[in-house]
Amino acid sequence: MNQPRLTNLLVIAEHDSGQLKLATLASVACAQRVCAATGGQFDILVLGEGIGPVAEALNGYGAANLLVADDASLNHPLADRYAAVIETQAKTRNSTMVLGTASTFSKDVLPRLAALLDASMLSDVTSVVPDGDDFTFERVMFAGNVIATVKMDGAIKVFTVRAAAFSAPPKSDQKSAVVAVNVDASTLPKTAEFVSRDEKPSGRPDATEARIVVSGGRALKNSEDFERLVGGLADKLGAAVGSSRALVDAGITPNTLQIGQTGKVVAPDLYIGLGISGAIQHLAGMKDTKIIVAINQDAEAPIFEIADYGLIGDVYQIVPEMIAKLEKA
Ligand SMILES: Cc1cc2nc3c(=O)[nH]c(=O)nc-3n(C[C@H](O)[C@H](O)[C@H](O)COP(=O)(O)OP(=O)(O)OC[C@H]3O[C@@H](n4cnc5c(N)ncnc54)[C@H](O)[C@@H]3O)c2cc1C
Repeated sequence: MNQPRLTNLLVIAEHDSGQLKLATLASVACAQRVCAATGGQFDILVLGEGIGPVAEALNGYGAANLLVADDASLNHPLADRYAAVIETQAKTRNSTMVLGTASTFSKDVLPRLAALLDASMLSDVTSVVPDGDDFTFERVMFAGNVIATVKMDGAIKVFTVRAAAFSAPPKSDQKSAVVAVNVDASTLPKTAEFVSRDEKPSGRPDATEARIVVSGGRALKNSEDFERLVGGLADKLGAAVGSSRALVDAGITPNTLQIGQTGKVVAPDLYIGLGISGAIQHLAGMKDTKIIVAINQDAEAPIFEIADYGLIGDVYQIVPEMIAKLEKA
């Protein structure tokens, strides 16, 4: 049987204003697995301005090179510029695979990169398996109900991986070579300009990074109740908050909180769903959670089919009791 040819992977790191997004480690884990199977190597590329701490946080995960594109022209993640810088690196380094963890950032940048490289592109990959001298990819489709097994054409493959499918690897003392990437701002596309970022800091962790997520559904009647019950319970547990689309559509929660097929995909250790029915589109965003707790007054609610622990009752009665008990604990 043919052996897969040596791989040379390029992992695109994601960060928020200089703070590493831990979901990046899923891509690193995927790259490590491919290299273990093929004997290849991987590099990690960090783009931005003032990103030394991000590169430092990624040192010790087995990358051959940590490529640092640190330039004022990259201070905001504008996809046209980022894709152009990544394209140059992928070509210079003869990358055979370029990958990032599935997120709004990678969904913005990587399809543009694939177009620039004239490469094929896959999203939401859950496994990469050597197959003769090539690879077979598995990816989730239709809200997680179908696993597609896919071959990609072309010498270079661009894809995003599902964070839940690749656990963060341990850090070692072995350091990568840190390589500064020269960025010529005058050659970068300027089809998009950064205007402003309107952010309301919540002081809570991001749902894609948190160990615990407390999420609310249509049972919550307004944003005050959401903050009091969902936010209140989350704060007692040091958890992130999430929301079903029903609340986003009703203007009760911002769409940054939406979990599901058209929102964030999370896989925390514990997910507590408050007054959420468990529609398939919602489950697509949280069913890889280790332990699911559901509180719903309808014993027939579909979320109970996947919940590890279920409580039948009124969230307006149960959640204040939980918060009071946690206050005493
Ligand atoms: C293309 C497409 C994409 C979508 N993407 C998403 C997505 O990304 N995320 C998402 O969430 N949805 C998504 N949806 C919508 C999805 O189909 C559901 O409509 C939505 O998830 C329902 O939200 P919900 O569970 O909060 O509301 P409902 O389905 O109305 O459920 C509310 C639940 O609360 C319970 N309840 C009511 N009052 C109380 C109370 N006082 N105490 C306890 N329980 C109570 C009820 O028994 C019920 O089970 C999508 C739909 C489509 C068509």
